[in-house]
Amino acid sequence: MAPDQATELVTDPATPTNPADPAPTNAANPADPAPTPTRALLDEVAATADRFLGSLDERPVWTRAGYDEMLAAFGGPLPDAPSDPAEVVADLARRAEPGLSATPSGRFFGFVIGGVHPAGLGADWLTSVWDQNAGLTSLAPANAACEAVAAGWLLELLGLPATASVGFVTGGMQANFTCLAAARHDVLARAGWDVERRGLVAAPPVRVIASVDRHGTVDLALRYLGLGTEAVVEVASDDEGRIDIDGLTDALDAGTGPTIVCLQAGEVHTGAFDALATASDLAHHRGAWVHVDGAFGLWAAAAGDPGIRALVAGADRANSWATDGHKTLNVPYDCGFAIVRDRVVHRATFGVHGDYLISSDAGDPMELVPEFSRRARGFPVWAVLRSLGRQGVADLVDGLCRNARRLADGVAAIPGASVVNDVVFTQVLLDFGDDATTGEVARRVLTDGTAVLTPATWRGRAALRCSVSNWSTTADDIDRTVDALARIVGEVRGGA
Ligand SMILES: *Cc1c(COP(=O)(O)O)cnc(C)c1O
Repeated sequence: MAPDQATELVTDPATPTNPADPAPTNAANPADPAPTPTRALLDEVAATADRFLGSLDERPVWTRAGYDEMLAAFGGPLPDAPSDPAEVVADLARRAEPGLSATPSGRFFGFVIGGVHPAGLGADWLTSVWDQNAGLTSLAPANAACEAVAAGWLLELLGLPATASVGFVTGGMQANFTCLAAARHDVLARAGWDVERRGLVAAPPVRVIASVDRHGTVDLALRYLGLGTEAVVEVASDDEGRIDIDGLTDALDAGTGPTIVCLQAGEVHTGAFDALATASDLAHHRGAWVHVDGAFGLWAAAAGDPGIRALVAGADRANSWATDGHKTLNVPYDCGFAIVRDRVVHRATFGVHGDYLISSDAGDPMELVPEFSRRARGFPVWAVLRSLGRQGVADLVDGLCRNARRLADGVAAIPGASVVNDVVFTQVLLDFGDDATTGEVARRVLTDGTAVLTPATWRGRAALRCSVSNWSTTADDIDRTVDALARIVGEVRGGA
């Protein structure tokens, strides 16, 4: 539709001028207002979306076109003149198509990437339509209430204190940053230093104790925080990537002063969990702040299987927790949660009001996150949790673990292939005999297109990493993936 037509429709005499007027006659449902000029565009987007979702079972899971082809597809000079939005969006979809990875596919096991639960998808579309600015409660009360209610549900599902506060951020990285900012505030406040007012110049040094297998975003967060990566006191970890408890004790005892201990629930390669109860107790005994990076692993707490829940025993003893919405919970990108036990500390770190000692629950979402204006992430989170319910979340987590186990068992039966890690959660690390073979299998998996698994290095050896994080993955998806791997391994070994 041309912009002039849009103007014409907006000024259509059928459009009621008085908001109290009854709905215009050209609506399909007499209770609905007339379709807006945007309606045709939305219908076209829905059809395009449906085609994409419908293609997921058969399309190659890895992208067919690379960056250079996409640059050529999208390139050209900035147009001088405006063009019809609907045509531009249809054109965008056409050009993008070969350069899309099928990340919402049930056979996308690369990195750690969740799918899109339908309730989250629908709510996310409306989030864009409503275009709320989530920072202020008075401006966006529906979102603020959704976030408050969803926060309560999240804390219950994750087995965390009901009085903790939850900031809705973009993902695990920003959740780690937000939590570690609260940690920095608190450990320095206890040393008599107001970091929000006085900054870090001349502040007492802050030690950050973490294992060698911490996620890279912890270091990035420390860079943002001005603590620097050299603040990290590294502790060894075991074969699965769990922090060494004796090493942690030694590190704690080797220094004094403001100390933050970063633990991990779900190592990104192996899915292993630190001994959270023991490690937290040791750290708290020496006055440290305990942070848990549980980007995907914290969701073990919501499992139905008690064996899986046991992985996070003691997680509730920490002072802060980072987790994702767009991984295990299958909310669309982007979504993460920064959870802080002491809501006064959380608000003191990010609040912009003079008086931080807010004793009631009322407040603004922006007091809990680094952003001022931001997307209303409460809607998709609320919708997915409401749609799944406690049972649905438990089934989701159990199902991911069951599928990870099935994949591990299937691959272990391929001659020459082995599973490197103890598959306790959703991560499976595969080895195909030697680095050259594993590397070649990793390359061919992507071009084969049946599934996506991504290459990794673990303890100096090449591995193929598989993360089962998508709600829609079926046993058949796992079997198709194992069959493809068996075929590819055969080809590589046969020199094909
Ligand atoms: C994915 C991940 C992160 C980073 O999360 P993003 O959502 O990508 O920002 C941090 N820690 C761990 C353990 C992760 O798996």
